[in-house]
Amino acid sequence: MEVLYKSTRSDSAPISASKAILKGLSDDGGLFVPTSVPALDRPLMDFASMTYQETAYQVMKLLLTDYTEEELRGCIERAYDSKFDIPEITRLHKTSDAWYLELYHGATIAFKDMALSILPHLMITAAKKNHEDKQIVILTATSGDTGKAALAGFAGVEGTKIIVFYPKDGVSSIQERQMVTQKGDNTCVIGIKGNFDDAQNGVKKIFTDRAMKEELAQAGYQFSSANSINIGRLVPQIVYYVYSYGRLLKDGVISAGDPVNFVVPTGNFGNILAAFYAMKMGLPVGKLICASNSNKVLFDFFRTGSYDRNRDFILTSSPSMDILISSNLERLIYFLTGNDAAENAALMKDLTEKGVYSVTDQMREKMDVFFGGYADEEATAAQIRRIYEKDGYVLDPHTAVASAVYDQYLAETGDRTPAVIDFTASPFKFERAVMKALGQPSDMSDLDLADRLSEVSGDAVPEAVNSLRTAEVLHKTVCEKDGMADEVRKFLGL
Ligand SMILES: *Cc1c(COP(=O)(O)O)cnc(C)c1O
Repeated sequence: MEVLYKSTRSDSAPISASKAILKGLSDDGGLFVPTSVPALDRPLMDFASMTYQETAYQVMKLLLTDYTEEELRGCIERAYDSKFDIPEITRLHKTSDAWYLELYHGATIAFKDMALSILPHLMITAAKKNHEDKQIVILTATSGDTGKAALAGFAGVEGTKIIVFYPKDGVSSIQERQMVTQKGDNTCVIGIKGNFDDAQNGVKKIFTDRAMKEELAQAGYQFSSANSINIGRLVPQIVYYVYSYGRLLKDGVISAGDPVNFVVPTGNFGNILAAFYAMKMGLPVGKLICASNSNKVLFDFFRTGSYDRNRDFILTSSPSMDILISSNLERLIYFLTGNDAAENAALMKDLTEKGVYSVTDQMREKMDVFFGGYADEEATAAQIRRIYEKDGYVLDPHTAVASAVYDQYLAETGDRTPAVIDFTASPFKFERAVMKALGQPSDMSDLDLADRLSEVSGDAVPEAVNSLRTAEVLHKTVCEKDGMADEVRKFLGL
């Protein structure tokens, strides 16, 4: 059955998966959603014996129906290879309370690699299929991890250029170094004087600027996005929920059909939305536990039904979750309205104009699979320490937020359904916060600190960090938040 994609904000004609991946965002500012969500067509037990790559094919073929088997398997093969430092691509680590799904074994040591190592291949294939002769310009806002993962994915890819905007003072030191040392003539990295929401808004504005689009087309370019608003990011993320379910089946922790709870450290609502889609496709899910840091807009939303971004933006030790406008929530809202584009568009207009919207009671009833929680800075640091002392396992701050929220969930509900906690970044990426939390000295250079963390955790310093020791800074531009369009023009020579 062919799956097509339509905008969450209007009822314009649906387009194919490959076209939706090329476009990134709909012209009306809406996000692409599948017109229907297909069901898994293999018995759950089959997933117990599948590799990551095979699971990826079985899941993605259902949603990216205009890719041929050969195309899709080719993309998967090129993405999930020795760039990952374990042959299984991801694995479950059992502690006393839960299973941690280690999603940070890719080239840039954050879970963003799970989707961004395949997105360039999906996009290039899409360009070929659609006889697109314009060069693709990837325009991306990052809270730290997307940027490097996208740069690594697109660097040197023929027919593409990539421009990344990050909040100059809003990312970890290792995250910034990873980005500004990126090689490749087709890459451009710019710090902005603002926070992630400013970067994301700026990018969305450039995307929907018709004059700019014209200018670009004349110069032989077209924009696309590597942010999780791109359906080509979301679809690959569904895979690891199915894969982890398969691992639990294989280990005899569950039987086919038993529910699993998933705990997701959340920012832009992309990762947890992928879990929601996995559930819609038939994966047995108990609860989706949405964990926020001190920027707890989502926690408040799940509690009150009101989404209110009018509040201070807080810089935390989990910067990839420092977000007040969770873009992907729009896809859930659209679903909650019963796929009513006009109603969703009205709510999104409220968000833009007033910074707040509320959903109806009827919509709230449909959200009850979600449990929202949050952990502030103190609770996050305490959790890093607690899990280290109890299980000898070092979490990064994002994962610690999820872990702390899971403890709250257990205390509140007593629900002992097996739980998988997404482990979203290597602790080496946020080593200063981690070492402080562990009560270790942290007053030294980034790279000395990496060596110390290696001694404490017993894990080798990842290559992604080691390589920074000698890497040259290649990107030095910093701009005002309203100067983003000009920087894009400059880089593209418009
Ligand atoms: C991006 C990111 C998150 C948040 O994921 P969303 O899909 O934006 O909700 C959490 N942890 C880490 C380490 C990340 O890089």
